[in-house]
Amino acid sequence: MRFIFLTILILISTFGAVLEESRWKSGETLLTFFEKNSIPQKLYYDLDRETKELADEIIAGVRYYTLKENGQIKQVLIPINEELQIHILKKGDKYTLELTPVVYQTVRDSFVLEIEHSPYQDIVKKTGNKKLANEFVSAFKNSIDFRRSLRKGDKIAIVYNEKIRMGKIFGSPVIEAAMVETNGKKHYIYLFEGRYYDDKGREVEGFLLKRPVRNARISSKFTLRRYHPVLKKYRAHLGVDFAARKGTPVMAAGSGRVIFAGRKGGYGNVVIIRHSDGYKTLYAHLSKFRRGIRRGKYVKQGQIIGYVGNTGLSTGPHLHFGLYKYNRPINPLRIVKITKSKLSSKKRKKFMELASKYKSEIENVIATGVKPKKYEEFDFMVSLMEKKSSIKKEGGDG
Ligand SMILES: [Zn+2]
Repeated sequence: MRFIFLTILILISTFGAVLEESRWKSGETLLTFFEKNSIPQKLYYDLDRETKELADEIIAGVRYYTLKENGQIKQVLIPINEELQIHILKKGDKYTLELTPVVYQTVRDSFVLEIEHSPYQDIVKKTGNKKLANEFVSAFKNSIDFRRSLRKGDKIAIVYNEKIRMGKIFGSPVIEAAMVETNGKKHYIYLFEGRYYDDKGREVEGFLLKRPVRNARISSKFTLRRYHPVLKKYRAHLGVDFAARKGTPVMAAGSGRVIFAGRKGGYGNVVIIRHSDGYKTLYAHLSKFRRGIRRGKYVKQGQIIGYVGNTGLSTGPHLHFGLYKYNRPINPLRIVKITKSKLSSKKRKKFMELASKYKSEIENVIATGVKPKKYEEFDFMVSLMEKKSSIKKEGGDG
């Protein structure tokens, strides 16, 4: 980003080029944009499939920048999301398109505060960070009933990471450790390998399967044998079908790691997530995957991973949802709550070491009374041109 703006500024001073800021029009695609600006369509068709898909993620109304010289485009910068932007550059007669990351810093922060209204309201008031407040509430939701047990004057403390862009917060914060003190008793949670545990190493989230689609009708239940109308033969149905409109968001039924996201024969577009204790969930016939959902990605329960579709062997748009324990298909509808995962003794040792570090860090935050820092929220739909000082600042702080 800094590099691009510096380049733009150099070009302005050198060639008298003009930098324009515009809003991405609703219905505009990268192709129509190319056409309007006499950029060869080949640039688009030569992109790999993933980048073509990303090009469809440009949000209508987002501010983008063009650098023109004698009315001809030299550079374009289009944000896709908080992480990436499309950068088109003309060198000689040749155009190139690449994705460039949005520059931000990760900052580790901590604070302690006394409850005045509720943890959510007080965190928002003191930090301006709604996402942090949400994370905090959801991390404790299975261990403390805030409404019943918290009193005015009780304390909370948080150690967390957040992204800062141009002096403002954006993206999702990650809470590493947190504490709630009520009635003189301290309750801790610590992040360990993507899950929250209390100070005794018990998982506080629990493993609970959620329905992967909202307001969907079950059109076919789990069975070991079934007549298949397309193949005209018997087949097993090793999952549950949820009939839903094409494009309906599909959510991860539980937190875990994506181990497959791609095409899988009759299942069409499939996402498979590996959870703890040998559980796996499978989501089939997706019309498309959520941006960023790929092998190795960690997803949280309830996070959107894809959209209902009709790919593979399917008679109509629906989600096929499968649950496996150690590769054995089981009926997901029977599994409402699964026993809480326990740490193995080796992991437990690692966890206890980490927990004691976090605990003394939190004790230190409380003892020294570290106050919350308040940031404004970065809105990438807001013009960068109106924030010239911020651009300079970003260019300066490395
Ligand atoms: Zn099915």
